[in-house]
Amino acid sequence: MLENYLMKHFNKTIAECTDEEIYAALLLLTKEKATKRVTEKGKKKLYYISAEFLIGKLLSNNLINLGIYDAIANELAANGKSITLIEEVEQEPSLGNGGLGRLAACFLDSIATLGLNGDGIGLNYHLGLFKQVFEKNLQKETINPWIDDHSWLTKRDEAYTVEFGDFSIKSTLYDIAVTGYENRTNELHLFDIDTVDETIVKKDSISFDKEEIKKNLTLFLYPDDSDEAGNLLRVYQQYFMVSNAAQFIIAEAKKRGSNLHDLADYAAVQINDTHPSMVIPELIRLLEKEGIKFEEAVEIVTNTCAYTNHTILAEALEKWPVKFIKKVAPAIVPIIEKLNDIVVKKYDDPAVAIIDKDDRIHMAHMDIHFGHSVNGVAYLHTEILKNTELNKFYKLYPEKFNNKTNGITFRRWLLHCDHDLTKYIENHIGTGFKNDATELEELLNYIDDEKSLYDLLSVKAENKKILKNFLKRTDGIELNENSIFDVQVKRLHEYKRQQLNCLYAIHKYLEIKAGKKPSTPITMLFGAKAAPAYTIAKDIIHLILCLQELTANDPDVAPYFRVVMVENYNVTKAEKVIPAADISEQISLASKEASGTGNMKFMLNGAVTVGTMDGANVEIAQFVGEDNIYIFGEDSDTVIKRYADASYVSKDYYKKNPVIKEAVDFIVGKEMMKLGNKENLERLYNELLNKDWFMTFPDVDDYFATKERAYKDYEDRLGWARKMLVNIAKAGFFSSDRTIEEYNRDIWKLS
Ligand SMILES: *Cc1c(COP(=O)(O)O)cnc(C)c1O
Repeated sequence: MLENYLMKHFNKTIAECTDEEIYAALLLLTKEKATKRVTEKGKKKLYYISAEFLIGKLLSNNLINLGIYDAIANELAANGKSITLIEEVEQEPSLGNGGLGRLAACFLDSIATLGLNGDGIGLNYHLGLFKQVFEKNLQKETINPWIDDHSWLTKRDEAYTVEFGDFSIKSTLYDIAVTGYENRTNELHLFDIDTVDETIVKKDSISFDKEEIKKNLTLFLYPDDSDEAGNLLRVYQQYFMVSNAAQFIIAEAKKRGSNLHDLADYAAVQINDTHPSMVIPELIRLLEKEGIKFEEAVEIVTNTCAYTNHTILAEALEKWPVKFIKKVAPAIVPIIEKLNDIVVKKYDDPAVAIIDKDDRIHMAHMDIHFGHSVNGVAYLHTEILKNTELNKFYKLYPEKFNNKTNGITFRRWLLHCDHDLTKYIENHIGTGFKNDATELEELLNYIDDEKSLYDLLSVKAENKKILKNFLKRTDGIELNENSIFDVQVKRLHEYKRQQLNCLYAIHKYLEIKAGKKPSTPITMLFGAKAAPAYTIAKDIIHLILCLQELTANDPDVAPYFRVVMVENYNVTKAEKVIPAADISEQISLASKEASGTGNMKFMLNGAVTVGTMDGANVEIAQFVGEDNIYIFGEDSDTVIKRYADASYVSKDYYKKNPVIKEAVDFIVGKEMMKLGNKENLERLYNELLNKDWFMTFPDVDDYFATKERAYKDYEDRLGWARKMLVNIAKAGFFSSDRTIEEYNRDIWKLS
């Protein structure tokens, strides 16, 4: 297939081409095949609007979904080429930050796979979030350009004008094909402007003139918002995204036959977190321009829009000053004010108003009042929204609240990233699980079959070798493939508590120095980007990198215990790290992680979770049972009470508990000071000692003991393999196909 294509278009054989040329040809071939599956079937269409789509590399995933991966891989191999090396030619699109953006990408895959009529809408950030490099044990941010000559972007003719307060701008639309697994192709629409100028970014940094909107609008995802200009730029981006989206949605609905009074029968809009919230007033504005009265426009838009909440961290719920919107998008200010008037008249409670007494617009409040659905992303998260965080809104609109536990696409997180495990599963239960993930449960028939269990251990051992070779090449890291791979990879945030894992690492180091060697060597693997302005998060990275240096260079310790951190954790790295993991660290402070999706990826790839009763860990624990997960720590009720009565004093724990004191003191001890910076380490030490806002100390004893128990259980190889098998078998519920079926059944109602 490929040879013919290359001959026809480039007059070359496979063997004569470089990997770059083969990649370029496969890109074209894939695009052609994907386009053939685009269909406009269905009257109603979903628009999933999101500031982030962390889609990962697309080549292999598309080949799998188009059903030609094996054929191409075999043809390449027969001609002396490796699909793995050709995959590496592709740049990972840097259009997302973490779980929220990756969720959006998994959802697009499932929407297409289920044959639903639904597209994504976002922005085409040229330089992405940022690329993380490590220098002197510190995170440094550089640009992450990803658009090269051979790209998945296809330029479209559609263009809209977006009117800002002080100027207007014409948009350009790029599409990326979203191939469903053996099904239709949908589109990810990414809006952009032609005047973006990458040269305004200062060399070796991510800083630039934030006021030159025509040059910087789509340069970066989440530009630094530590000053007013940065905040304004974010508002410019958001309004640009939703104004294009609203114009696009209305144009398409009209084309499909809508008279706009019936827009809600033609369009469903999902607002992914609060970044796209201004789509509500923007749609109302456009409907009014089309001659629809305000009251009716409000009703139409409410029936069209639905909101997903992703966090209960107060600082993440966006509140924009009215004066910002007045400057950026003055046309929607009177609409927002009228919406606020409706709310204030109806409900005599300032806590549920859209505009507060300080003249700030609460984006989530607008979404809840003027959308028809509010969903959380895991059972516990939705309960907390209903009972505490958004309780006042729940009392007003109980019928709007619903839960949609997150999921992941098994095409990328099993079929693509773990070929050996996929084959193992096929050999045991056939291929039905690829379309119905719940069939994975059939693996439980092998729970007492020793050969199957040993084979599963071999798959894991092979994946550890693959990771070892990969990290040697990409990061210069030497892994011991015979050690336990204990992995925490996710964004760096205090609530995710990498610092708790660090305290354990210090404890283990000191134990080994004192002569107590672990019977199986341990590798603690980290991967995490910190937001550029998040000081303490960067201090925690500094600590991890210092521990990496400390453990690597101490001959008493290195053979038994190593801390390692991969640079620039992204989807590509995740696809290599997760299949190799033995232990999945999901240790957020209970009540703080809305769902997590990393936890699901690890489970599906046969890692066993060490975690708190938080987010979707709660559901994972229910599915696998207590013998197949390591749960520790205080529960969410206890934590919520501690916050409510402000009763937590970290220093009390430090004084009472010598294990805590020893580990915390080590952060500013002489070994660390030799490797690291006084300023970073002392700041982190003081933060833990005097604040510890995410309550690591109360969980230390239970966490350390639980980890020891897991390490000990690991040595019973058959017993451990059983735990792995149960985790894989019970992962079916966490397929994003199930999640999307629920969204469609309860919210979108596409045919
Ligand atoms: C899945 C994923 C995440 C989310 O991980 P959590 O552990 O759920 O926070 C973040 N980044 C990348 C690259 C991912 O693939």
